[in-house]
Amino acid sequence: MAKVKKAYFCKECGYEAPKWMGRCPACGEWNTFTEEIVARESGSVPAAMTSALPRSTPQRVGEIRSNDRPRLDLGNAEVNRVLGGGLVPGSLVLLGGEPGIGKSTLSLQIALADNGLKTLYVSGEESAEQIKMRA
Ligand SMILES: [Zn+2]
Repeated sequence: MAKVKKAYFCKECGYEAPKWMGRCPACGEWNTFTEEIVARESGSVPAAMTSALPRSTPQRVGEIRSNDRPRLDLGNAEVNRVLGGGLVPGSLVLLGGEPGIGKSTLSLQIALADNGLKTLYVSGEESAEQIKMRA
């Protein structure tokens, strides 16, 4: 059985206690403590979670080999230039700016560019119809 470290927290004020208490000494509320797992012993991490991770060992910077993977051409010369020659495979780019400056439009232009890439456009703000109208 995996050994876990538990603590009790007041739902009202966040006060932490090593054992359950009926009344919170910080805010005075009753029956507000809930049990939470705060740490597991290192040996108790399930094997399925660690076996998928690549082994990592310290390396000297001079000994690190760059694999020179080609950057992805996004089909927009200016975007490619800003990204240093295209998108690095596996990287994440955060596009920021004032409201209305054109982040969504630029993203849609990249998604629709004839660059040979499949793009999944995800939006939490606009409906599918709004995206289609702008496209
Ligand atoms: Zn409290």
